[in-house]
Amino acid sequence: TESLARAEALIASIPDYPTPGVLFRDILPLLADADALRTVTTELISPFAGEFDVVAGVEARGFLLAGCAAIAAGVGLVPIRKAGKLPRPSEAVDYSLEYGTATLEIQSDIAPGSRVLLIDDVLATGGTLAAAIELVKRIGATPAGVSVLLEIESLGGRSKLKSLSTHTVFADR
Ligand code: 5GP
Repeated sequence: TESLARAEALIASIPDYPTPGVLFRDILPLLADADALRTVTTELISPFAGEFDVVAGVEARGFLLAGCAAIAAGVGLVPIRKAGKLPRPSEAVDYSLEYGTATLEIQSDIAPGSRVLLIDDVLATGGTLAAAIELVKRIGATPAGVSVLLEIESLGGRSKLKSLSTHTVFADR
């Protein structure tokens, strides 16, 4: 649609950020636009209508989209945070980054068996969302799908998410 094309055009490309050689995709101009924000929020959740009880957002830009999605879908929200930020972490998962490793944590604040839609801004190598999926399983909830704003297809991250239904609003080819 026209709204989606407009929203996509608001994603900026920043060369050499955060390190030389990286082309960083900056979604913040899209978030700053009311029509674009509403349009992508609808796109993130509509393929999974009726299939989830809660959304989980990955720190930090995933929080912003997950907050919008939760209100739009009428469900609650669980944050998946970087290590050391949660007051009552119940599970932690280490994962690899381009250089070194990182850790994500979650709290057990949702009922066991809750169906969780995982949301983030960008799917790159898939390491972050694979770790997030593992955390959701470890608290006894059920991953219902993954929804991201932008997939960088050349990095092949989708293969790390295995059989989980993965929806992306925009794709970089
Ligand atoms: P992955 O683990 O899939 O390699 O990286 C995904 C994580 O890194 C996401 O949480 C995402 O926010 C961040 N990320 C990686 N590349 C980009 C990018 O080009 N733009 C933005 N906005 N985030 C990125």
